[in-house]
Amino acid sequence: AEENKKKSAPDDMPDWSAYRGVMIFIEQRAGSAKSVSWQLLGEGRKLADKLEVDLIALVIGHGTEQLTKDAIAYGADRVYVADAPELKDYRTRPYSRVALHVIREVKPEIVLFGATATGRDLAGAIATHLPTGLTADCTILDVEPHPSRLLLASRPAFSEKMLATILCKQYRPQMATARAGVFEALPYDAARGGEVHAIPSLMDEAEIEAQVLQFIEATERFDIEEADVIVAGGRGLGGPEPFKLLQELADALGGVVGASRAAVDAGWIKHAHQVGQTGYTVRPKLYIAVGISGAVQHVVGMQNSDCIIAINRDKDAPIFKVANYAIIGDLFKIVPALTAAVKAK
Ligand code: FAD
Repeated sequence: AEENKKKSAPDDMPDWSAYRGVMIFIEQRAGSAKSVSWQLLGEGRKLADKLEVDLIALVIGHGTEQLTKDAIAYGADRVYVADAPELKDYRTRPYSRVALHVIREVKPEIVLFGATATGRDLAGAIATHLPTGLTADCTILDVEPHPSRLLLASRPAFSEKMLATILCKQYRPQMATARAGVFEALPYDAARGGEVHAIPSLMDEAEIEAQVLQFIEATERFDIEEADVIVAGGRGLGGPEPFKLLQELADALGGVVGASRAAVDAGWIKHAHQVGQTGYTVRPKLYIAVGISGAVQHVVGMQNSDCIIAINRDKDAPIFKVANYAIIGDLFKIVPALTAAVKAK
């Protein structure tokens, strides 16, 4: 046994050979998954392949048949599903109790959650019950191969001025939340096969203190991380008024309006619209950057967009280096012309 211990882990690390697999929490609301869940399955697949272990999905909800199929189609080898009426809406205690049960039984070496309000709440609740830590808001994930099998979880630190890689050497599982929009989902493959394991709900409705009475959608419903099209404006707009031009173009394209930090700091638009290092990381199909110079702190938040169109009157603006299409000229002429052209189609 002593010999095996030496083979399975370096001397200064405990023997964690009972812990194997990479687990992803699939976050859902009313049966629809948050896209960060599929993005994490895509990244988790790479980690699991490097460690030569299964990629495991944890699905909690009610009416989860499609989510379970989708989890396999997006890369999971095994899915643990807790499906019950009392699990329909997210509540910390019943969800964390199921997740803790699965983690203790299955013993994954890595567990990942989206860094969303729900993911942060659940991961934090779970971490308090396990002898392990939690690295929050990661933007880069990697693993050291066997024998250390360490998760290298990196996240911006010190007001985003540096990147810190945080290791969890002494405990398992290694847990992290990760930002939406940073990682890429695998192509949906309906022909993939996988194991499905049913898990019981572990709390009766009567035992759960928190009741969900009603979901009230915010009057200004806005989820920039889920948008397929983003029309983002920067300091070049010169004030809050021209954002109406961007909204018209975004409406014509079925998208939403984003912004640079300069526009947010000037008070022209709310922080919920900010893209970049201290805003949201986005991965839309189309990103139109209007009057944005392309500072590195902005570019890190949008460079993974499928197609980038930049509109700027300065032909040397750095944004053109990441753009697929460059439109050099005055935004006040180009944006209305684009909107009219889209509407005419
Ligand atoms: P500018 O750099 O001033 O660019 C304006 C552009 O508009 C110029 O290129 C100009 O040529 C063009 N323009 C002007 N008028 C017109 C016109 N009529 N038609 C066409 N083009 C025109 N920034 C972010 O965006 N997101 C972040 O999350 C973020 N986080 C940061 C974190 C830290 C720690 C730091 C230090 C900075 C951060 N920044 C962030 C700020 C970043 O460094 C830049 O200052 C900011 O992105 C600049 O915004 P901008 O491109 O809108 O403005």
